Amino acid sequence: MAQFVHEPAREIPVRASVDVLVVGGGPAGLMAAQAASGKGLDVMLIENRGSLGGNMTQGLPLLGFLGRKGNEVIKGLPLQFVERLRARGQATHHRACPLHVSLTMIDPEGTKRLAWEIMEECGVKVLMYVMFVDVIKEGNAVKGVIIESKKGREAILAKVVVDCTGDGDVAFRAGAPMAYGNEKGIAQPPTLMFSMRGVDSRKLRDAVADHPEIYDIDFIPNEFFRADDNCTMVGFRNQIRQAREAGFHIPVERTIFMTGMAPDEWWVNMSRVNGIDATDPEQYTRGEEVCIRQNEEIARYLKAYIPGFENAYVDRVAPFMGIRETRRIIGEYVLTEQDIFDCARFDDAIGVAAYPVDLHHPVGGDCTLMWCPDCYDIPYRCLVPQQVDGLLCAGRCISATHLALASVRVMGPAMCIGEAAGKAASIAAETGLPPRAIDVARLRDELRAEGAFLR
Ligand SMILES: Cc1cc2nc3c(=O)[nH]c(=O)nc-3n(C[C@H](O)[C@H](O)[C@H](O)COP(=O)(O)OP(=O)(O)OC[C@H]3O[C@@H](n4cnc5c(N)ncnc54)[C@H](O)[C@@H]3O)c2cc1C
Repeated sequence: MAQFVHEPAREIPVRASVDVLVVGGGPAGLMAAQAASGKGLDVMLIENRGSLGGNMTQGLPLLGFLGRKGNEVIKGLPLQFVERLRARGQATHHRACPLHVSLTMIDPEGTKRLAWEIMEECGVKVLMYVMFVDVIKEGNAVKGVIIESKKGREAILAKVVVDCTGDGDVAFRAGAPMAYGNEKGIAQPPTLMFSMRGVDSRKLRDAVADHPEIYDIDFIPNEFFRADDNCTMVGFRNQIRQAREAGFHIPVERTIFMTGMAPDEWWVNMSRVNGIDATDPEQYTRGEEVCIRQNEEIARYLKAYIPGFENAYVDRVAPFMGIRETRRIIGEYVLTEQDIFDCARFDDAIGVAAYPVDLHHPVGGDCTLMWCPDCYDIPYRCLVPQQVDGLLCAGRCISATHLALASVRVMGPAMCIGEAAGKAASIAAETGLPPRAIDVARLRDELRAEGAFLR
């Protein structure tokens, strides 16, 4: 088999020319597109899947909205999004949690619908089912992107591009310096979420609260679960040990599930495939298949070993295997775990985060949490790639160490960073300045005016 083929140069039709182009419609991308709109700029959002929301559609709770002192650290557009969902009965209050600091359950279908409504209200042009595949560059500056779809290859020109792909696809293609995973180049493992209905939630809560000697829960006092409220349960290590002795293959050391929006609904976060590079389709494919098999076994385990699950059944499976980590930029500043533990403050802060360093070990099936004493600032420089102009990054691909990313990657901060990136892109498009040169004081003022929380 030949190693390479030659692709001849060709003319590519230009589909659109816009002021701000957001690539990726997950939590970061939605907020970026909304924040960039409203100044009369042409804003476009492109997404390769058939729905908006990215990982917000996976049955996961939004983490990170509260700080450790119980105050809201994520406000602005992300909070408005949650409040609109809540008004429809599609999001819960932020429940303080000793382990995860806070949880906000959301309805995946309601999230997709609201995302559409907001994009329409803001006049953002949305183009789905298109894959970003390359950049158009002049010198060091990104001037647009190449997309692929059933229509073939097309170009979209833009004054500023915001990379919200999670994997840093745009920054990578633009040649920005990037990092991947830990110091050995291994990333946190992916998971395919699924939900079970028919769970006797009262029985589960009572069993856990009444019998801490049987049901070991990590860190949280078992009494916490007596209240009929939203929660994540993490633990049941004993039950996993027993199940393994009985021949079950469970890929993780801890049982992890969380409430959904219905009283008998719990979402299970337990499949794990170590060593997967999700930027390689062959490995992603293998991971998805392994997760499907793991989930069958996990559902059998839950029914057999966890009180309240006896009559439960698998209801929904997340639309895709969720990716915790791949590439990230090495930006103008690299956020470190020490910044998080020191509650660092930065003059160019564009948001505040408080979620712990939550590391699903790249090797083995365990997880470590390390808490920030209060909250920390996210500097604007973490959104700005080195060496490339015309581009900002938001969400899971910002500039942070492997450990710092394990905190800042969750959806509350991702939304907040998205808002800041969108606002910064709008300023860059208005002024004609490269994103690295915009007036950050103005950016912070505009974010504050939109209700963002900055210290
Ligand atoms: C299993 C798992 C459990 C997690 N648990 C939680 C949790 O409980 N709570 C929490 O807050 N966070 C959790 N996280 C983390 C969180 O979901 C992500 O880090 C966060 O969603 C990142 O947001 P994002 O917008 O950067 O990326 P994403 O949510 O991944 O969105 C990226 C979007 O870009 C699109 N896209 C990607 N590449 C391209 C391309 N080339 N062209 C066009 N479109 C593209 C994707 O389709 C997607 O819609 C979890 C993550 C995983 C994987």
